[in-house]
Amino acid sequence: MNHLHHWYLVEAEYMRVLGKPAKAMNYYNLAIEWANKNAFIHEEALAYELVSRFHIAQKQQRFASYDLIQAHYLYTKWGAHGKAMQLLNSYSKQFPKLLSYNHHVDNSSGSGHNSVRKTSPSGRNSSSQLDLQTIIKSSQLIAGEVVFEELIKTFSTFIIENSGAQRFILLTVEGKTFTRAFESRVVQDDIVTKSFDNQYVVENSVNVPSSLLYFVQRTHQSVNLANANIDHQFANDQYFMTENVQSVFCAPILLQGKLTGIIYLENKLLSGVFTSERIELIHLLSLQAAISIENSILYSNLEEKVVDRTHQLEQANKDLTMLATTDSLTQLANRHLFNERMILELNRAKRKQSPLSVLLCDIDHFKKYNDNYGHIEGDDCLQKVAQAFKTLFSRATDLAARYGGEEFAVILPEVEAEEARILGDKLCQCIQALDIPHQHNAEFGVVTISVGCYSIIPSVEESNNVQIKSLLLKVDEALYQAKESGRNQVVLWQPETIEKYEQHWTKF
Ligand code: GH3
Ligand code: MG
Ligand code: MG
Repeated sequence: MNHLHHWYLVEAEYMRVLGKPAKAMNYYNLAIEWANKNAFIHEEALAYELVSRFHIAQKQQRFASYDLIQAHYLYTKWGAHGKAMQLLNSYSKQFPKLLSYNHHVDNSSGSGHNSVRKTSPSGRNSSSQLDLQTIIKSSQLIAGEVVFEELIKTFSTFIIENSGAQRFILLTVEGKTFTRAFESRVVQDDIVTKSFDNQYVVENSVNVPSSLLYFVQRTHQSVNLANANIDHQFANDQYFMTENVQSVFCAPILLQGKLTGIIYLENKLLSGVFTSERIELIHLLSLQAAISIENSILYSNLEEKVVDRTHQLEQANKDLTMLATTDSLTQLANRHLFNERMILELNRAKRKQSPLSVLLCDIDHFKKYNDNYGHIEGDDCLQKVAQAFKTLFSRATDLAARYGGEEFAVILPEVEAEEARILGDKLCQCIQALDIPHQHNAEFGVVTISVGCYSIIPSVEESNNVQIKSLLLKVDEALYQAKESGRNQVVLWQPETIEKYEQHWTKF
């Protein structure tokens, strides 16, 4: 799969050098076939380029022309615009007819009714000599556009400026339907481009010769009418009967034999403006445009997809983070997030040498509450208490978390000891004010909480681990002292109070 086409291509070149053209041809074909089958676009392009050289050497210009177009198309599709340009550049000079298309119905020179004039009606390019510079310049511009609308504008401007058309229509085709249409007209000395997004109505249209468009769509043949006023196979088309059109050129845009679009050009003032040189250019530009259109559609789809996927990914990440950091019963932060935030805030406080306070809260006599009212009521009570935390600590920098069972913890950055104690006190009042009946809370008759509080300006030297451990230990001591002192209150950890508390304990 990876190497067979390489092997065939080397074999083909080998046979060419040995002077065995039939064998060489056979291997070239195999190389192209296998490169195509396994999607090695650049090597398929290379095989086409080499086989075209082979045909040139064999003086088989018609084959060479086809192969060069394929090589040019594939290099462009692969994104090697420089290489495609080099191909165009070198071969167009050597063989000016090589990159042209020969298969179109042409009555421009055969009818004898009209002379072929070579002046441009728009006055933009009166010379019929279409130099390579024009082709290369436009080709580069078209290949450089990835935004669809811009691409069409660039393309139609070039077509109108160089083809002698007053009106130019590009129809994109998918299967049997015309998917989009772009129309450019010369209005005074300007080119105005309109685009039609939805299905373009061709059938029985009074704006376009539908029978001609359908013919080109069906047969993949180009049609060049030097004078659309005289008899021709589309003369009965309503459009030609009502509009006085002189010159018409209509051609398919084929990519590897597949119809991707149709171009239609007309001039109402002059007959025979679409000379063979101009048609060559139109063909070249159309092919280039078709590739670029395909690329730009791919590109925009890709962009949409990337945006869509990124959005999905972001949402999934959000959901996952939410799940990993939120307590499912209370929707408060969980202990994991608390721990993470603790390190973050400790570092910040270290850097700024600012205060950092922590509250540790525990519902009073909650075991009795559960025993009395049942676990479902218990959960309900936990949710109500959590709601009070959310309301009270709504500053963006505060973090209230469910620390475990019926314990909650709050991180208060930039809050000093006394301020934290006041907040703890407020919290106790808020919970009591919820007025959740609790028969077995003998002192208060409703659900209450006890709060331990501790505040530090962290030392820069001590490690985070040691400081967090000691902080949690102290806030826990303060909480137990609050319980000891009669519950429904806040205790701020201070060395002297805790000493007293410890002495009190050692008595027992
Ligand atoms: P104290 O005033 O000393 O804190 O007494 P307490 O009964 O609250 O004691 P403790 O803190 O040891 O009690 C914890 C109780 O919290 C045990 C359990 O019944 C209850 N609890 C813990 N987690 C949950 C929970 O998720 N849902 C419910 N309904 N109850 C829980
Ligand atoms: Mg507890
Ligand atoms: Mg408790």
